[in-house]
Amino acid sequence: TASTGDFALEFASTPSPERRAAAEREEILADPGFGKHFTDHMATVEWTLDGGWHDAAVHAYGPLSLDPSASVFHYAQEIFEGLKAYRHADGSVWSFRPDANARRFQRSARRLALPELPVEVFVESIRQLVRTDVDWVPSAPETSLYLRPFMIATESFLGVRAAQAVAYHCIASPAGAYFTSGPQPVSIWLSTHYARAARGGTGAAKTGGNYAASLLPQQEAYEQGCQQVMFLDSEEGRYLEELGGMNVVLVKADGTLVTPDSESILEGITRDSILQLAEDRGLRVERRRVTLDEWRDGVADGSITEAFACGTAAVVTPIAELRGEGFTITLPTAGAGELTMSLREELTDIQYGRRPDPHGWMTQL
Ligand code: PMP
Repeated sequence: TASTGDFALEFASTPSPERRAAAEREEILADPGFGKHFTDHMATVEWTLDGGWHDAAVHAYGPLSLDPSASVFHYAQEIFEGLKAYRHADGSVWSFRPDANARRFQRSARRLALPELPVEVFVESIRQLVRTDVDWVPSAPETSLYLRPFMIATESFLGVRAAQAVAYHCIASPAGAYFTSGPQPVSIWLSTHYARAARGGTGAAKTGGNYAASLLPQQEAYEQGCQQVMFLDSEEGRYLEELGGMNVVLVKADGTLVTPDSESILEGITRDSILQLAEDRGLRVERRRVTLDEWRDGVADGSITEAFACGTAAVVTPIAELRGEGFTITLPTAGAGELTMSLREELTDIQYGRRPDPHGWMTQL
């Protein structure tokens, strides 16, 4: 039961009649990849303008039935989140800062004129789903159960206004180790034709439209032999923003970490956590506007020694180079920098219960 302040929401539980057999599940868990396989159940909570949040349930995973006029299909009124459940050595299952994802989900909801799901209901939906499908949480090193909460406008109405009927769902997908032989440094392509987000836009919200808009520049990055795309601010095209699905951090020779402060980027929970661990070590952390020139000049004069991308999926990924039309910035470490790697290890150790959790970030499910 999740208390939502003025009322309590109980998740009804209906076991799936099509639960997969243990052998089939184990075969999937042996090599799950990412985002390809889904567990037997999902969590759902419905919302209407008149009735508020209601009908919380964990039920069989399966197709949604929506009217073709549902506004999500036309006006993209939707938001999502991404977080993981980790199995510890004693078999217990934990998630990392789910309350932070819940609060970001509320901020995204506000921007997209969707109702805010109470933090406790968000966390409880994850707990109920993971408990039901706990056998789907893999246990091999660096594996996890990826959780994808999302909210869509389901009202069948073509008028352009905030929907009065909305559904929240959470699905779960076993995820293999992102890097099988240690983190592989990536090449990043700088997109100069396209911006990801504008001032006053939706860049800080985790909403599908931002990702739809990033697909074409992401394709351009692949064509250039790069794995990720980097965006600059849309007004001046001078300031670093973020990657298609990760935040970016520069490391200076004295151990200072510098990361873009912008109203149009997604405030990553991985980045926030890494910066906290760096501060715990007594390192300096600067959240401020950072120009592309600063990166280029810093690498040239030796004051910037490492750079990394960070996000839930890959945790921390060293950046080997940033390329754009007519230029390349090559990091001296060509990737796996010492501080980058040690912060990555510290964070994953906390997530997998291999070292104490000094900030109370882990929540047992
Ligand atoms: N920026 C974008 C655009 C993202 O999609 C993500 C992944 N959610 C991030 C940053 C990193 O956020 P987090 O560390 O919370 O996963």
